[in-house]
Amino acid sequence: MPRLLLDLTRAELRELMTQWGQPAFRGDQIYLWLHRELVTSPMQMTNLPQDLRARLADEFIINPLEPVVSVDSRDGLTRKTLFRLPDGATIEVVLMLYESRRTVCISTQVGCGMGCTFCATGQGGLLRNLSAGEIVAQVHWFERWLRQPAGDGGLRVKRPSRLTNVVVMGMGEPLANYKALMQALRTIADPEGFALSARSITVSTVGLVPMIDRLAAEELPIRLAVSLHAPTNRLRNRLVPINRRYPLESLMAACHRYVEKTGRRISFEYALMRGVNDSAQHAELLVDLLMGLRCHVNLIPLNPIPNSPYQPSHEEDVARFQTILNAAGIPTTVRLRRGIEINAGCGQLRQAVQQPELIPLLSSR
Ligand code: SF4
Repeated sequence: MPRLLLDLTRAELRELMTQWGQPAFRGDQIYLWLHRELVTSPMQMTNLPQDLRARLADEFIINPLEPVVSVDSRDGLTRKTLFRLPDGATIEVVLMLYESRRTVCISTQVGCGMGCTFCATGQGGLLRNLSAGEIVAQVHWFERWLRQPAGDGGLRVKRPSRLTNVVVMGMGEPLANYKALMQALRTIADPEGFALSARSITVSTVGLVPMIDRLAAEELPIRLAVSLHAPTNRLRNRLVPINRRYPLESLMAACHRYVEKTGRRISFEYALMRGVNDSAQHAELLVDLLMGLRCHVNLIPLNPIPNSPYQPSHEEDVARFQTILNAAGIPTTVRLRRGIEINAGCGQLRQAVQQPELIPLLSSR
């Protein structure tokens, strides 16, 4: 199978050119074609000698993503696409449009090994890690789409435009695929390459404590979001099984170290589930847990999945939860349930394609 050119760092491209008897600067030229121009074929790299382009095309591919199905939300603000990789594995990527932001939510693994009990991806287990190039390719794909003049309708976005944010909250636990993740993020944030500000990149984790410490030591000023979902070990053990290995005491200690070391606040994601974690008492316990930490809380009414005991909270319970946190001085936002009708919770489109009798696809294109 041809290798993925996006898997190579700039230094590795220079090295490859030297090995092939070319001047090293050809590696820099290729890097710019890949990450600035977003070409999909080496034959488009017009300042390279013809025979070099042909050899690259022979030995490498650039875009590993084949779209299988895309669905748009009815409001035209969210598009979710299921992609097939060359080995047949499938991953999901979501484009979300806000007033002034165009955000892509990317995956880092095929499936996920964390087994969160309310999550469609978690139910299927981990198949494999994505490579750095496969992670970068997801960003490139939607950036390429945004750069084209409008034509195929669908989403409410003026084109040509650019991505403004990347969130690593799709399928998989990003920090469980640390090496590939960091190579991908360095490439995306490289001012001499794709050049998206690192501050516009958010990485989420369910709480792999040693990796949070490792991330804090990186020089890349990305943002961290911790998927909390419960204020007690008893409940969190049930919802987020990795909590048994890294219980709340050790997770919160790592969060404090992270804020101290980086000076950046942490976001906490809290999926509100009816009658499970959304009472006033849960909100008060959460206040106790987060008190004194520079943070922000995102409350997300759950995206329900079929055959699941978990349902989204009632609106009044969401409002009460937010009021208690805000009253305690913890900035809290209720996130819109983006594209609930398009199976936008992670893993849901993949499940819908595999088991259409469970989740009907809406407005597929
Ligand atoms: S919620 Fe995230 S970490 Fe948990 S199983 Fe789903 S994809 Fe994995």
